[in-house]
Amino acid sequence: MPVHETRDLLDPETKSDSVLQVIRALMCRSGLRTELARRTGLSIASVSTAVKTLLRDGVAQGGKKEPVVLLPAAGVAVGIQIGTRRATVSARLPHWRSDQARVSRLDLGLRDGAGWLDAAADAVADLVGSIGRGPGDIATMGLAVPWAVDPRDLSPSPPAPWFAAPDLHRHLEARFGQVKVAVDTDARLGALHEQTYHHPYETLLYVEAAEHVLGGLVVGPRMLRGALGRAGGVGHHPVEPGGLDCWCGERGCLERYISVPAVLEGMYVSARGRGEEPPASIGDLVDRAGGGDPDCLWALTVAAKRLVRALRASSTTLETQAVVIGGPLAPGLRLVAGTCEDELRRSTWTRHLTVRFAERDAAAHGALILGLIGHLR
Ligand SMILES: [Zn+2]
Repeated sequence: MPVHETRDLLDPETKSDSVLQVIRALMCRSGLRTELARRTGLSIASVSTAVKTLLRDGVAQGGKKEPVVLLPAAGVAVGIQIGTRRATVSARLPHWRSDQARVSRLDLGLRDGAGWLDAAADAVADLVGSIGRGPGDIATMGLAVPWAVDPRDLSPSPPAPWFAAPDLHRHLEARFGQVKVAVDTDARLGALHEQTYHHPYETLLYVEAAEHVLGGLVVGPRMLRGALGRAGGVGHHPVEPGGLDCWCGERGCLERYISVPAVLEGMYVSARGRGEEPPASIGDLVDRAGGGDPDCLWALTVAAKRLVRALRASSTTLETQAVVIGGPLAPGLRLVAGTCEDELRRSTWTRHLTVRFAERDAAAHGALILGLIGHLR
């Protein structure tokens, strides 16, 4: 049986819109026709017609009551998450399951200048090579960035943080040649990943708690962007009236209290005050908290309470069904998950809310999905 080229399968010139949508959905994950309808937003009749075409053309297989599965396709899908201090690369073939993706984690980020780009390009080449393919075989690429992305021109939405780089996806395109790079906010891509693979909720809010704090909303099968791409942003919810000044121009924003630097800074001051050595990194802080260190646990408890304050405010308007927390602070917040739950139960607006913790590298895997489905949904 001939192996289809991923680029050909995703060519909009040769496919009807519904066939293309079903192919993209299958590249994300195989599934029953009813599930494909839910994930694409198409009617079951449209999905059935599209699947019939794909079975006829030898692109997919699967009986009436069985999951539809994509047959082997050539061409590698790549996802990259770039942060201020780290980068993560994920790569797999389109017919592979998500958990078969190869992952590479780098301790280099935007604050290290252009150096991360070389390291990420090397990591992509290594991963693609480990799959048995070459650099020319990259079919799709998605990029997760730590700022809000304006859906109109893919530039950073104001107020953009100092490290925001407007043309990052174009630099990647130039670097890899021939590959169009789809870009979006890391939290939104984390939400897309969770909604696709783990938690098919009606409304899902994903919070990326890293050097920045961003939120991403998925409503049913759609990523909610907002007019300027800032929908779901919880990082700049005021949680302390008259609190600390924030770079965004407001005061008392959540990010000023629960970002990784803010939590470490708080620990630094209290530990030095007691003549103790403060945690060197967020991983160190989480390890100490896991070992029962009361000060580290307290820092995480305070962060959890502030996060819930912002979640309560956003849930009152959005009636979010589930919140998924990701990023380097997530393993720490998981240690004090009981506090999060208790705080949420206190309000009638958030009593129903389910709190979960993201799979590691969720935003990088979400970037890989974005590359497959393209910018527009
Ligand atoms: Zn702010």
